[in-house]
Amino acid sequence: MEICERCSRSDAYILLGTERICSACFNDEMEESLGVKATAYPEGMALRDQKGVMRSFRIRKRLLPVGIMMEADERKEQGFNFEVLDDLDCDQDQLLSKLLSKVQKGLAENYIVEDRLPSGHIYRRMDKDRLGGTVAWNGEDQETPLIIVDGEPYSWDQIGKILMSYEGFQLKLEIVDSSDEIRWDEEKEKDREN
Ligand SMILES: [Zn+2]
Repeated sequence: MEICERCSRSDAYILLGTERICSACFNDEMEESLGVKATAYPEGMALRDQKGVMRSFRIRKRLLPVGIMMEADERKEQGFNFEVLDDLDCDQDQLLSKLLSKVQKGLAENYIVEDRLPSGHIYRRMDKDRLGGTVAWNGEDQETPLIIVDGEPYSWDQIGKILMSYEGFQLKLEIVDSSDEIRWDEEKEKDREN
């Protein structure tokens, strides 16, 4: 991890002009122009996902002209990432709660599951015929993105293979802002439960 050019802490990930700085120094800088102070918050947490795997997150807060942004970024390459955004005068403790519940909700559903055919062949399928994830940069293939699902990276090709069992079905693809929630049709949700 890179060293902050102002305070020498080791979490410099923001580029301000030509300086690489940490979120604390960034917020100090923004505090003056925005007139809002970032309150204290836990910088990390760990939770178990649906499969029982422990997921460790780095929590960060940023004061931005559009509002206060908090993110929980999994401490691994191409893992889970959750963001929430609210107004500059929002209750920052509530914003943290909102982030925590978003993480819990995100970890509660497992979109892709593995099954075994009688032949022993293992294949992947969508557990509830739906898929949610994050579009990410693919360092190995600049023509197609990686899709991060359940905190794991999938190539476009792998996603395509999963879709092959739905030949003839319709597909709905919707882009959701990173600070919004992925919401599923509640009526369909009820149908599934019945
Ligand atoms: Zn710093």
